[in-house]
Amino acid sequence: MTLLEARDVALSFGQTPALRGATLSAQPGEIVAIMGPSGSGKSTLLHCLAGILVPDQGEIWFDGQRIDTMNESRRSLLRRDRFGFVFQFGQLVPELTAEENVALPLLLGGVRRPAALRRARPWFERLGLAGLERRRSGELSGGQAQRVALARGLVAEPGVLFADEPTGALDTLTGEQVMDLLVSSAREQGTTVVVVTHEARVAAYADRQVVVRDGKVNALVTA
Ligand code: ADP
Ligand code: ADP
Repeated sequence: MTLLEARDVALSFGQTPALRGATLSAQPGEIVAIMGPSGSGKSTLLHCLAGILVPDQGEIWFDGQRIDTMNESRRSLLRRDRFGFVFQFGQLVPELTAEENVALPLLLGGVRRPAALRRARPWFERLGLAGLERRRSGELSGGQAQRVALARGLVAEPGVLFADEPTGALDTLTGEQVMDLLVSSAREQGTTVVVVTHEARVAAYADRQVVVRDGKVNALVTA
């Protein structure tokens, strides 16, 4: 069974073709890494799969529904209710505490504050962040902030976690710790992961690696 699929997707920004017939699918619980050189179309593909960008051609399917032809408000609800996101720079809300940041997707989904904070709390223990619940993002290290962002991406138990260069701003060791936690937490929840990275070490955590070149997806052939 396929949970998420891009079928022959093409997208240009003005005269610049970013994707030219990209096809990729992910099974439930599968961890897929998208590699490839800078400018090859990795982020654009991730944004199409996540319903953030609408392709010019081709189709995007999630859980039996075609999402590229949905109207924007339905797609936005789908992102809120079924998808989680982690980006390169955690993008924590600086005015909120770490636990409020983790609880944010639940609050936006209509969960009341006490219940949302109750669900956020176990993530601090799980990700080695105990004691940092009340800190603001300026008082966290890069690795701590990215673990908070990871908890925020997973707290609502999304069907798919989209991660765009989640370790890109971290040193190698810290990046591997974050990736290790990302993979183990996703597996525990059965969450499908699509991770964009240009680092082979990070991609090695995935079940399957693909390479985007000139807007097309190729299976990675290892020698
Ligand atoms: P990657 O993630 O592999 O670095 P991207 O998907 O970000 O590649 O970009 C693919 C191509 O599309 C590049 O040529 C890039 O310059 C272009 N591009 C991406 N986003 C935009 C945008 N918002 N406006 C114009 N061009 C863009
Ligand atoms: P880049 O691919 O250049 O590194 P990012 O991946 O950090 O950029 O940002 C991706 C884009 O997706 C941004 O324009 C951001 O506003 C948008 N975005 C991030 N999260 C969501 C979301 N949950 N719903 C809709 N759009 C989002």
